[in-house]
Amino acid sequence: MADIRKISIEEFHAELRAQGASGKQHLAFRCPMCATVQSAASLMKAGAGENFEQVEKFLGFSCVGRFTNAGSPRRAPDDQPCNWTLGGLLRLHKLEVVDGDGECHPRFEVATAEEAAALETLNG
Ligand SMILES: [Zn+2]
Repeated sequence: MADIRKISIEEFHAELRAQGASGKQHLAFRCPMCATVQSAASLMKAGAGENFEQVEKFLGFSCVGRFTNAGSPRRAPDDQPCNWTLGGLLRLHKLEVVDGDGECHPRFEVATAEEAAALETLNG
C-alpha cells in the first residue's frame, strides 16, 4: 500500500504559497500518475475553461491530459500528461488534505518552487 501524506488545509496553502507564484493561476501540482507539473494556467491552455473559477475544480485533481485527449498513464512517466483523475475508483494518490471536520480530500502533490517557476515561465 502506498504511503499517503496527510496535511491540513493550512499546511496545504502554506506549501502552495511557498512556491512564490505571481498569481493563483500559476500554483503548480504534480500528477501522481504521469508526474507532469500543471497549474490552472495549464488547464486553461488545454481548454478546460476560460478562467480560474472554471478550472478550479480540476486543479490538483484531474490531469491536464484529460482535456487534450492524452492516453492512460504509462508504465513509466514520459513527461507527457495522462487522463488520470482522483475522482475514479482506483486510489493511487500520494497526498490528502484534511479539512476541519477531519475529512480527507485527495489532491495532486504540491510541486516544488523550482517546478512552479519553470511552469509559470512556460505558460507565460
Ligand atoms: Zn497525469
